[in-house]
Amino acid sequence: MHMVDWKAIEEKWQRRWSEAGAFETDPDPEKPKFYLTVAYPYPNSPQHIGHGRTYTMTDVHARWKRMQGYNVLLPMAWHYTGTPLFAMVERLKERDPELLETFLNIYNIPEERLPELEDPISMAEYFAEEIKHGMQRIGYSVDWRREFTTVDPVYSKFIEWQFEKLRQRGFITQGSHPVGWCPSCGNPVGQHDTVGDKEPEIEEFTIIKFRKGDMVFPAGTLRPETVFGVTNMWINPDATYVEAKVDGETWIISAEAADKLELLERSVERVSEFQGSKFIGITITNPVTGDEFPMLPASFVDPKAVTGVVMSVPAHAPFDLVALDQLKREAKKNPDAYRFKPSDIKDLEPISVLEIDGYGPVPARDVVDRMGITDQEDPKLEKATKEVYSAEFHGGRMRNNTGQYASMPVQQAKEAVKEDIVAKGFATTMYEMLEPVQCRCGSEVVVKIFENQWFINYGDPAWKRLAHENIDSMTIIPYELRQEFHNVVDWLREKACARKAGLGTPLPWASDWIIEALSDSVIYMAYYTVIKGINEVGPEPEQLTEEFWDYVFLGRGDAESVAEATGFTAEKLMEIHEEFSYFYPLDARHSGRDLISNHLTYMVFCHDGIWPRELWPRGIVVNGSVLMEGSKMSKSLNNIIPLINAIDGFGADPLRLSLMITAEPLKDADFSPDLAKNMGDNLERFHQRAVKIIEQGRGSPDNLHDIDRWMLSRLQSYIAEADEALKELKVRKTIHAAMYNLNQDMDWYQKRVARELERPERADAIRYVEWRVLDTQVRMMTPFTPHLCEEIWEKMGGEGFIAFAEWPKVDVSSVSQMSEVLEGMIKTCMEDIQKITRVTGIRPAKIHFYTADGWKWKIYLKALELAKKEQLDVGTLIKEAFKDAEMKARSKAVPGYARQIVDDVIKLPDDEMELQLKMGQLNEVNILMDAVSFIEGEHGCEVAVSAESDPWTEDPAKRAHRAKPYRPAIYVQ
Ligand SMILES: [Zn+2]
Repeated sequence: MHMVDWKAIEEKWQRRWSEAGAFETDPDPEKPKFYLTVAYPYPNSPQHIGHGRTYTMTDVHARWKRMQGYNVLLPMAWHYTGTPLFAMVERLKERDPELLETFLNIYNIPEERLPELEDPISMAEYFAEEIKHGMQRIGYSVDWRREFTTVDPVYSKFIEWQFEKLRQRGFITQGSHPVGWCPSCGNPVGQHDTVGDKEPEIEEFTIIKFRKGDMVFPAGTLRPETVFGVTNMWINPDATYVEAKVDGETWIISAEAADKLELLERSVERVSEFQGSKFIGITITNPVTGDEFPMLPASFVDPKAVTGVVMSVPAHAPFDLVALDQLKREAKKNPDAYRFKPSDIKDLEPISVLEIDGYGPVPARDVVDRMGITDQEDPKLEKATKEVYSAEFHGGRMRNNTGQYASMPVQQAKEAVKEDIVAKGFATTMYEMLEPVQCRCGSEVVVKIFENQWFINYGDPAWKRLAHENIDSMTIIPYELRQEFHNVVDWLREKACARKAGLGTPLPWASDWIIEALSDSVIYMAYYTVIKGINEVGPEPEQLTEEFWDYVFLGRGDAESVAEATGFTAEKLMEIHEEFSYFYPLDARHSGRDLISNHLTYMVFCHDGIWPRELWPRGIVVNGSVLMEGSKMSKSLNNIIPLINAIDGFGADPLRLSLMITAEPLKDADFSPDLAKNMGDNLERFHQRAVKIIEQGRGSPDNLHDIDRWMLSRLQSYIAEADEALKELKVRKTIHAAMYNLNQDMDWYQKRVARELERPERADAIRYVEWRVLDTQVRMMTPFTPHLCEEIWEKMGGEGFIAFAEWPKVDVSSVSQMSEVLEGMIKTCMEDIQKITRVTGIRPAKIHFYTADGWKWKIYLKALELAKKEQLDVGTLIKEAFKDAEMKARSKAVPGYARQIVDDVIKLPDDEMELQLKMGQLNEVNILMDAVSFIEGEHGCEVAVSAESDPWTEDPAKRAHRAKPYRPAIYVQ
């Protein structure tokens, strides 16, 4: 037994790769390049297997392209900037028990090293080292010569240049804009600062001023076009509301709304405070339609959301519909519990104001009924709302009861209504979070108008057009996500790009501001291509002037004068510029799905804003995350496995394979220790079979039989499948083709030919086939399990590293549909025998095969011809059959037989029909004779093969007449 010593082969091949500088990539004008990057890690904690998916996928991508002949560059660096390191250091200094538990007991950080982690840079260095070690031990093919951190002085000069370029293009603004804000921390909040890394998304809500005399009940909505369908208002009876003078008007709003309006720079003067219940039953006027209706109570109204006052549009809002139904029911049961009479509300019916195909007049009713929702606290209401909203937004048209907006598409009416009612003073606007987001400190994130802040203006319409153009022209994997990127481009607006705290680069023109972490990490893919050259010179940061970067990245200026100004030699400048020009544009950017709404889209914008079209990014790959036995990994579930422990426990290759085998696009990978063990077992078996094949040698292709051609043909189909799947990085499919399915066919093949090995000429052919399968399989598995594959490749006497061997291509001359059809027939026969023995419980003493006579073939082929012309039916077939004089003699048998085969033929797939026609009549006796020794071996009995009407046919059970082409009759004795 050859057990794999994972640790030994990992160390061996990692050492060899490193000694050979295998993955250190320099420009090579002879080869096409492929440049891919993955988000550099933020080293404020160690790596666990949840981090493994995106990085392993990137490495698989890199390794696959390398085998396709590309000169592949995959670099890595470290993101130190921003506030997360500070936050982690604070928690450590406070000896936060949860953090200590994680560091000491999950990650096994030696306790005596904790004090040195109390400085942000030392902490980053410690974890960067740890993460790098993990990446090396899992076998990522990284060019480590280009490693850097984002607090390096050279990097700061690069970021200064980035900001100068954006400013020169007019994309940096200073002013007052809404930002996500934590009232407790007193800081703007980005995705890195929120619970669950949720991006704070800000929307401009329309606030419609419903009235009762001088009092305004302002209702916030994203659907101003539905104002024509309001049937009532909602207020939360148990929440605290205030009467406040807001910009001179008397507003009734939730207490929280009053606080938020202050942050939005409104003048707010609180007059008095009361429970929401105070207003229930009063009559309110719709400023747009003049309709009057009551204010009603609803528990779903969240005082923290927008104004805490809600307009009710039951025809188009599932929450409103369910709450209204519910209130009618309850008021009828318990009429005295309310400040209104049940009769006041029983006639409130949904008013439909827009129509969409596929729904009735009240779309909310359709969806709510379908989902069976009857309670306003039902969590399914979120989903119902999303469905109605999306259907109406994309396919809705305004009805005739909406005046001048009648028949306008909803998308257009939404903006038109908003603009008009704001202009008429019926409404105003208010920034609000699109969804609730929590700061890491626990406080709810709110919107603040932030004054004199520096912004990158992703709201610039001309810039948005470039980003859309780039997104349309790039490869986005999975393909389905392209629209999501367009949507993000559409809603992005000014993004605060600097802070007063944290590590990072000061704004070049306002050095009291530090550029924040989502703004200094958007074009660094370019930096990897030049940093190696810069390091070779070791310049002072001052030498890295704007002219320097302009030259190396944009080719501006001439080398001689830039050399004079910077102290670089002209040759070196040209070399650095050429290296950038060789590797750029970026071919693929890998990242997690949560970064679509910020990092990935910012990357597109900033590239498009700085470089000409031909240097824009060409690809994005979005990866899912990793679940642990179906659950999210979390400290509280105690299911975090550090990457290093997983490598030690399972081996790098089994771990890589288990992270990839469940990695479906758009889905989370589901890891489990059992899965990793199972992958280890699979790889052990792969290795064992390989060792055996290698011991036997390469064989020779001189005596190939149909079964050999079958195996080689199957092999081609798996190459094609793996290749097709990898184009979209559907790695699960690839592994299924390259490992599971191919192994299954190999098992069958080896079983089929086992008894032929005694004949030397057959043994040679079989070895040839097995060697070819192994040679292909080991190549196809290399991106996934590189260490084991190098080991096998070496034993095979392969040249160089398999990491650079050619990715298999389909060998068209080995594709043999005919042998696949023939072998399919043998397989079907074997299955039929198994069915018979299972049903009857017989231990076969002898198995008889009877093949169809020539006249049956004639009719069968006739049927195929008719089917091809789409003229096949029983009557026509019989008529055609009798045109042949030979059939006259069989006038009794022909019609029955014709009836039997018509269905069989009609069910055949077109390509198989075509193929059978091409192959014509087969000599089935010969085909079965070839498999006799195999079948005899499998069943331990004699096997007889003959045509149904051969004079020597033994047919004691009268089965022979049942024979059909491709379906010999079988008798198990
Ligand atoms: Zn906070």
